[in-house]
Amino acid sequence: MNLTGFQKWFKELSELKHLIIAGPCAAESEKQVLETAMEISKIKHVKVFRAGVWKPRTSPSDFQGIGNEALKWLSDAKKNTGLLTCVEVATPEHIEQCLKNNVDIFWIGARTVANPFSVQAIADALKGIDVPVLVKNPINPDLKLWIGAIERVYNAGINKIAAIHRGFYPFEETKFRNIPKWEIPIELKTIFPDLQIINDPSHIAGKRELLLKAAEQALCMDIDGFMIETHINPQQALSDANQQITPAELTEMLDKLIFREKDFNSDDFKCQLENLRLQIDSIDFQLIELLSKRMKIVEKIGNYKNDNNISILQLERWRQIRQTRIKAGEELNLDPEFVKKLMQIIHNHSISIQTKN
Ligand code: PEP
Ligand code: MN
Repeated sequence: MNLTGFQKWFKELSELKHLIIAGPCAAESEKQVLETAMEISKIKHVKVFRAGVWKPRTSPSDFQGIGNEALKWLSDAKKNTGLLTCVEVATPEHIEQCLKNNVDIFWIGARTVANPFSVQAIADALKGIDVPVLVKNPINPDLKLWIGAIERVYNAGINKIAAIHRGFYPFEETKFRNIPKWEIPIELKTIFPDLQIINDPSHIAGKRELLLKAAEQALCMDIDGFMIETHINPQQALSDANQQITPAELTEMLDKLIFREKDFNSDDFKCQLENLRLQIDSIDFQLIELLSKRMKIVEKIGNYKNDNNISILQLERWRQIRQTRIKAGEELNLDPEFVKKLMQIIHNHSISIQTKN
């Protein structure tokens, strides 16, 4: 598969090196769309107006989006402001409706990207159409699935493609709504250096208080743009109310962010260091989450052993754990002595949890 032909297609859209996309999570009313777009159009660097028209909600009783009617509001917003419009498409019918209403850019959402059948149906419907397509990461941290979705769109003849990094569903409670797992977009960029990656700090942070922090981290990752959920009245938003900000707050946030040039200077050196540190932080937090998961299971086993009068320390099992982990570590170039000590600490703690029962 040759995916080296990605165009750096949105360079010409912005005098900044970064493309800024802003707009509400969902189009809710004509007034909300037009007022939000009008305010956003006054922000210097924002070139594209986003709004969800069909919303992939977790529960069927949540707001599902307005549907076709909202496309007319977007088309009016485009006429009144000059902003390009960007809408999530999840089916061939969505594509047809968007084309009828002159939507400029499509994005494929995280839940849709996780389903290759849906992505293929979208790709088939895109054949012969010249429209840029943004592919969000799938909800699960599966780089191959993300690349597969990009390939399906690319194979349909679309070459104005960019990826959107919106974080991954965390199975445990985490600070952010979706864990960034920076190592994944970095790997994507390493494989496809010409593929532009837009960061979506809104869905990563999940709370407006954490939005700036998430965006700052992203800038250190050498990303190419932002998609930021912006609503004229975020508190009243029908979806993602906690993470949306007003156009005035967006202006303030963009002023605070340092958009670095990509040529290497001393600042970029700091950024490279920060980039590596963020990867380490992300991996460490995953280690902690996994250890917490392990200890919860250990507790359950402890209860079982106590209820059945089985001794806590099972030497044969411990020998087997140590041996298999050391071997697995060796296969991944980890020092056996290090793995042995690490497993000893984990095992000791597991025993002490079980003996407290
Ligand atoms: C959205 O952008 O509003 C959205 C539904 O995003 P995601 O697919 O990333 O959850
Ligand atoms: Mn949203």
